[in-house]
Amino acid sequence: MSLYPHLLAPLDLGFTTLKNRVLMGSMHTGLEETGDWSRIGAFYAERASGGVGLIVTGGMAPNREGGVFPDAAGLYSDGDIAGHRIVTDRVHGEGGMIAMQILHAGRYAYSADCVGPSPVKSPISPFPPNELDENGIEKQIADIATAAERALEAGYDGVEIMGSEGYFLNQFLVTRTNKRTDRWGGSYENRMRLPVEVVRRVRRSVGDRFIVIYRLSMIDLIPEGSSWDEIVRLARAVEDAGATIINTGIGWHEARIPTIATSVPRRAFTWVTKKLMGEVSVPVIASNRINTPEVAEAVLAEGCADMVSMARPFLADPMFVAKAARGEAELIAPCIACNQACLDHVFSGETSSCLVNPRACFETELVIRQTEAPKRIAVVGTGPAGLSAALTASERGHSVTLFERDSRIGGQLNMARRIPGKEEFHGLVEWYETSVRAAGIDLQLETAADLRTLDGFDEIIVATGVTPRDPGIPGQDQAHVLGYRDVLLGGAEVGQRVAIVGAGGIGFDVAEFLLQDGESPTENPALWRKEWGVGDPSLTPGGLAQKGPQPKRPSRKVTLLQRKATALGKGLGKTTGWIHRAALNMKNVRMIGGVNYEHIGADGLHVSFGEARENSTLIEADTVVICAGQNSERTLADELAAAGRTAHVIGGADLAAELDAKRAVDQGMRLASVI
Ligand code: NAP
Ligand code: SF4
Repeated sequence: MSLYPHLLAPLDLGFTTLKNRVLMGSMHTGLEETGDWSRIGAFYAERASGGVGLIVTGGMAPNREGGVFPDAAGLYSDGDIAGHRIVTDRVHGEGGMIAMQILHAGRYAYSADCVGPSPVKSPISPFPPNELDENGIEKQIADIATAAERALEAGYDGVEIMGSEGYFLNQFLVTRTNKRTDRWGGSYENRMRLPVEVVRRVRRSVGDRFIVIYRLSMIDLIPEGSSWDEIVRLARAVEDAGATIINTGIGWHEARIPTIATSVPRRAFTWVTKKLMGEVSVPVIASNRINTPEVAEAVLAEGCADMVSMARPFLADPMFVAKAARGEAELIAPCIACNQACLDHVFSGETSSCLVNPRACFETELVIRQTEAPKRIAVVGTGPAGLSAALTASERGHSVTLFERDSRIGGQLNMARRIPGKEEFHGLVEWYETSVRAAGIDLQLETAADLRTLDGFDEIIVATGVTPRDPGIPGQDQAHVLGYRDVLLGGAEVGQRVAIVGAGGIGFDVAEFLLQDGESPTENPALWRKEWGVGDPSLTPGGLAQKGPQPKRPSRKVTLLQRKATALGKGLGKTTGWIHRAALNMKNVRMIGGVNYEHIGADGLHVSFGEARENSTLIEADTVVICAGQNSERTLADELAAAGRTAHVIGGADLAAELDAKRAVDQGMRLASVI
């Protein structure tokens, strides 16, 4: 019997059957904007070949005013259909099914032409929306229905109507954004008229044998959001209007509660979807922070939903479902919910990819071909760069020996996994361990490779990582001054008052680590909800807790410092930096920029400010932790070069500045794909 009987069970929709309960949720990847339809087709086809039940594309605008940004991908005219046909043909060729998401951004559109129910500007956009009149509303409905018709013509199996996350349809539902007094505003019946009419008109334009998913915001996480009664009412009306499936949306984009970041507990919101089960008769999909077959199976087995949506996990591993079905779940590359290569890229105008799988969205460019000339390859170092190179080289048929000085693999990942809120890194390191074993790579732990060890290899890859940078602060040799490794890996004792030198990713991580008293909220959903102020939409409209966020007060007093005068944490992830800053603010961390480090005394860290080194101040501290960045560890690379031997140097050993795992994994895979 299957290990995942609920997950792998077909879902009968009456006119068609999905082969399992797994939906690849919609993601904006930036691919559609490239206009390279064969590349887009390759991306979706690879996911279809991995056995997912139904794919939903990234959001497609139904008209110019509804695009998330000017020139956002959309089905603007009949001329756009041919490109989409390439995608649907490729997916069907792999035995998959695909629905197109219709996304009208409303006031979230980054343009002065954006439209909405009322001219209420969003806090995350500079543009107040243009209030629609009766004709304008009719145009939006007609454009969405036409986009659905074009999707049908393009060969899609269905559409998903984006009704959540604070986009256009959602904006009509709540009084915060809908101030109208005509038939589209005021009472709830009036406010839900637009979404319901959209579903009705879409159904009318596509006929009965076409999947229509409605993505419904089940917890808005904003003040004056929808009440639970309203949510149920809308769900029933949407079903009556012709929806085949209802998908879950969690939180508006302007909400100040994280909903998909790595520190959000797994399946943190499936309890909300469960509340809707039994209220409608169409299947209901649960979403957000579901990233393993075990978690997905439990969601279904516990009756929280009829189907699960996973989006980013299909960037990390297109073969997710196939591997689960084969009983190889431990070989599924895990999505660690870091956002570093997917959402952060999109918000920087770059094409998405995946930290764990740099091939995501680059399927046609980064091709892993079997080698015709197998070589003996030595890889030195088992951080992300070395592991990525070793696994790719091995996959291509090379014989790989992997050297690691430590007694375990993972390098810097072993620090990340110790940080509360970063528990997903455990799974990443475990996946690397399993994959290295399964690939038959010769792993030599506790072995510091030297020139002699490396004799006889055809290629040498040096991935020896980094060493902590010495900031050279007078007094730093005292016993109460520690490096971040001493704290995160060495178990060094740390006092109650702590000054942290350096506020990069690791400075923030060390602060989180030192502030955690007891269980990590990421491992305890009830604690996490309390900390961030997530309530129940049955009790408070929008689902914000009545008492607001209630973080546990830490026993330590932490001060985080940097020399730059800019706001601390500015360089952190584009979509996650605010979460790290908010988490530390909630725990009363003092953040001080623009300092000069004068010296460290028994009483703490002495700093001054500005070029004139004025305003000398003592930051009282029992312990000072140095998190001042890193330098490349190039000893072996230099020895090889001095001996006239050629080596490829990758990861932190190549470039320590702003080193992150994303660049390391990408560089390792790209090198090994051509070696
Ligand atoms: P980093 O991001 O380069 O930050 C180094 C910090 O040290 C900065 O605050 C810098 O600020 C300070 N600094 C640099 N030179 C110094 C000196 N000579 N004396 C005193 N202070 C100095 O390095 P990191 O924090 O070690 O992180 C390494 C990489 O790991 C990051 O680039 C990041 O990509 C990744 N990472 C990311 C996260 C995350 O996003 N959450 C978490 C962990 C690690 P000033 O120069 O202004 O003083
Ligand atoms: Fe998941 Fe991070 Fe990959 Fe995005 S970049 S898909 S969050 S692992």
